[in-house]
Amino acid sequence: MLLRDQVDFPMPAAPVTLNDTQPVAAEKLRAQILRSRAGVVHGSLNETHTGRLTSDCMSPGILYVVATPIGNLADASPRALEALRAADVIACEDTRVTRTLLARNGIETPTVALHQHNERRVAEKLLHALRGGSDVALVSDAGTPGLSDPGALLVEQAHHAGIRVSPVPGPSAAAAAFSTSGFAAAGFLFAGFLPAAGSARRKALDMLDVSWPLVLYEAPHRVLKTVEDLLERLGPEREVAIARELTKKFEELARLPLGEARAWLEADPHRVQGEFVLVVGPGKEKPAGPPIDPDAVLEALLEVVAPSEAARLAARITGTPKNVLYRKALARAK
Ligand code: SAM
Repeated sequence: MLLRDQVDFPMPAAPVTLNDTQPVAAEKLRAQILRSRAGVVHGSLNETHTGRLTSDCMSPGILYVVATPIGNLADASPRALEALRAADVIACEDTRVTRTLLARNGIETPTVALHQHNERRVAEKLLHALRGGSDVALVSDAGTPGLSDPGALLVEQAHHAGIRVSPVPGPSAAAAAFSTSGFAAAGFLFAGFLPAAGSARRKALDMLDVSWPLVLYEAPHRVLKTVEDLLERLGPEREVAIARELTKKFEELARLPLGEARAWLEADPHRVQGEFVLVVGPGKEKPAGPPIDPDAVLEALLEVVAPSEAARLAARITGTPKNVLYRKALARAK
């Protein structure tokens, strides 16, 4: 069901007709966004922006990709609120969630739902509106749109259509967790959510032993399982930062070896509730040289020794965790 102030595309009585050009609202957004940008950006960036300073009302609108809080509503930046206020329409992952932020800030811009089930259809309508001169603000339920959230399709299509796309950056759980994990590195690997099960999950876990810190999102009902799988794959010494409920009342951040992560989570029943980011510390650089295939080593050893001994030796030779190899050895022995 659509909320009262949403833009309902199929209904002619919608508060904003996205097919129409909206020069007045677009002018307002342009002025406000560009003014606030000039206020906060230093040096040459001010001079390089390509904002529409003329009143060419036939020019296309702008797609603003707006980051919103990941918990604490006070984290909405003044520029994000201005963009939401001045846009002709806000495309939201869930309009009910975004309305909380809008209501708190007295913003009455019409909203439209854009989520994984309607993204293609709604993106088409929004592009039509953008081509006609309307400005669109894209938000997700929390953090930065497109990061494990819907929105990328609309943004991609806007690029293809020659529509200007402009970020209004702000909170993201990945950046917040990584920046507070304390793992020093030149980069990190953002892997989003691991596949829930099956060979896709095993394949993803196999790819995680990298020499960069690793940022994972996880749901509360799977966090214990994921910590166990990481332990099995990366060993007990590898450190992990568990970032829970960031910016919220029960925020917790613990950095500890993977071997202690399960006990930490189970120490308090509340600890397996809420939202999690796991930041896994970087693995050791692998020595250069021809790659060793753990399966081939195991296979060869199984010809001469029992599965447990084969797993032990293959683990020493290849650095693969012994229990992973032992399971494979048992499966082969069947
Ligand atoms: N687009 C968002 C961003 O920029 O962070 C992330 C959206 S993703 C669907 C939601 C996941 O982000 C959650 O399952 C959790 O892993 C992580 N997350 C979001 N808010 C969080 C918070 N306050 N504390 C810890 N993790 C959070």
